[in-house]
Amino acid sequence: MPEGYVVNDKRFEKFIVPGEKLKKLWTGAVWAEGPVYFADGDYVLWSDIPNDRLMRWSAKDGAKVFMKPCGYMNGHTLDREGRLVSCEHGNRRVSRMEKDGSVITLVDRYKGKRLNSPNDAVVKSDGTVWFTDPPYGILSDREGHKSDSELGKNYVFRLDPRSGDLRIVADDFDKPNGLAFSPDEKRLYIADTGASHTKDGPHHIRVFDVANGEKLSGGRMFADINPGFADGLRVDSDGNVWTSAGDGIHVFTPQSELIGKVLVPEPQANLVFGGPKKDTLYITATTSLYTIRVNARGDQKP
Ligand code: MG
Repeated sequence: MPEGYVVNDKRFEKFIVPGEKLKKLWTGAVWAEGPVYFADGDYVLWSDIPNDRLMRWSAKDGAKVFMKPCGYMNGHTLDREGRLVSCEHGNRRVSRMEKDGSVITLVDRYKGKRLNSPNDAVVKSDGTVWFTDPPYGILSDREGHKSDSELGKNYVFRLDPRSGDLRIVADDFDKPNGLAFSPDEKRLYIADTGASHTKDGPHHIRVFDVANGEKLSGGRMFADINPGFADGLRVDSDGNVWTSAGDGIHVFTPQSELIGKVLVPEPQANLVFGGPKKDTLYITATTSLYTIRVNARGDQKP
């Protein structure tokens, strides 16, 4: 078995670039999360949530603080115009950075009640923003501001930023977290990280069918994650699911088969496909940012 990987199935071998090993690009975070890649400029942004800062790394400039304070940002994604969409624990909102650098609120309330602390988001091809709203940013002052939940539940939402229309698309999660569409957008994968606070809580990914591009149905178990739990996840262009876990990035086929792992020495929160060919993983793992090139391409757009 090649060092640094676990191969459960021959189908995983094609993803391994010969001689390629995991590299640590930077360390110094308390809890690194939310990596997002910008092709224009070839750089990565990610959150260091307890330090309330947004970090930036590029091969040219190395790592530096991009924004601090930043509203205790967590997960990020790009919309179809390449604008940064961020989940903010501190401001309990989903925001968007405009091309001039200003940050605007996309949504912070549902029917007049404040959101808990948006955690992760994904933008569908129609421009709608799908995001999870667990309470991690209000449970304590560590990752935001301790506060009561006004909603009293942890929903998954769909926002149309043009009209402001906000709808609940899933209401039966313990703590919904990372999420990603399949390449054809007929499926939505959503992680549940209830196990992070409750020992016997969920540590799995469920898969939903997307009806008419706007509703979810099904929600069957897709994968139980061990060790650790799936926080953030991404889908490659062939529909395989690459998820964070306790020991490395786990790779599942669309049929739920765990075919292999990319081992990482710290528990991971999230990952993103980046690089000019979208074949480079950037992994936020507890204190550090790691990278490794793989023979797979991310499905994120743009
Ligand atoms: Mg998360």
